[in-house]
Amino acid sequence: MYGFEMGPIRPPSEANSILLRVTRNCPWNKCEFCGVYKGEKFSLRSVDEVKGDIDAMKAAGITSSSAFLQDANSIIMKPDQLAEILSYFRETFPEVRRVTTYARADTLSRITPENMKMLKEAGLDRVHSGYETGSDVILKMIKKGTTRDQQVRGGLKVKEAGMELSMYFMPGVGGRELSEENSRETAGVISEVDPDFVRLRTFVAKPGTPMGDRVEDGSFLPCTDEEKVTEIRRMLEQVEGCSGTVVSDHIVNLLEEVRGNLRTQKSEMIQKIREFEEMEPFEKKRFQAARRMGFVRRLSDMDRLPADLSEQISGIVHRFKTPQQWEEFLNYFLERYI
Ligand code: SF4
Repeated sequence: MYGFEMGPIRPPSEANSILLRVTRNCPWNKCEFCGVYKGEKFSLRSVDEVKGDIDAMKAAGITSSSAFLQDANSIIMKPDQLAEILSYFRETFPEVRRVTTYARADTLSRITPENMKMLKEAGLDRVHSGYETGSDVILKMIKKGTTRDQQVRGGLKVKEAGMELSMYFMPGVGGRELSEENSRETAGVISEVDPDFVRLRTFVAKPGTPMGDRVEDGSFLPCTDEEKVTEIRRMLEQVEGCSGTVVSDHIVNLLEEVRGNLRTQKSEMIQKIREFEEMEPFEKKRFQAARRMGFVRRLSDMDRLPADLSEQISGIVHRFKTPQQWEEFLNYFLERYI
């Protein structure tokens, strides 16, 4: 028997990566939209224990060209210990070309530039960080435990160390009331940091989380599916001087085709969103239904739907008489993806 631990999640881009668990769960565990580690206690793992897992993975014949360090905030480990693990992992798996991890912005802002460089030299190539929004008001509301200033300082430090920064933006996380604030402030942070990747994670209130409860009791007014897309457009329109890439790699995003380089493809991305926004309302809903039910990925896929399925989708759209019923229908599917 080969024994090694594995945490519950990794970014979609790490689907084929070796998953190496260096800490357990989340040291913060208070974000009001997140239910991943609720009820689980954070703990550090010892260097020897993690090295034991590396040996066990090697003995089991596991291999890949990439690896991801779990769980939610690996760089909270003592830098010299994490560097020792990284070096040992790199020696054991020389075929691995890229090692990445999750890191919280507050931890990134505290680590010294020297320690960040040490981690890069030991083999850490990319940091994924859930910024969610650049707005201090929204960060406070969702209890993210980070600030815009920490996001900027932490992000720049990652880049200065020669690592790639992958930041996550959550359209809709401020609700209707703070929708413009979310676009504007997030665009500001992106413009200041110019992350290598801006990954879109459309907000969906997960039942059972504090945000889910607030939607239930009416104290948080969520954006509609369409308003969240408009938030992405406004963010793109306000981003300046960036050369990173927008990535849409999660099924919660309505328009998968909104992806591309911020320097060379920004206007194309904005145009794709406008194309959706300017669709005739019934056609727009047909696309939303087909996308949320998993029949299409892009607007252009609608032309390729079989006639009988296309007719069924029209019938479904006709069934919902009020905007509230419509959003509930869409959310029924979205909640299955989070
Ligand atoms: S979103 Fe990330 S930092 Fe926040 S509680 Fe969940 S795992 Fe922890």
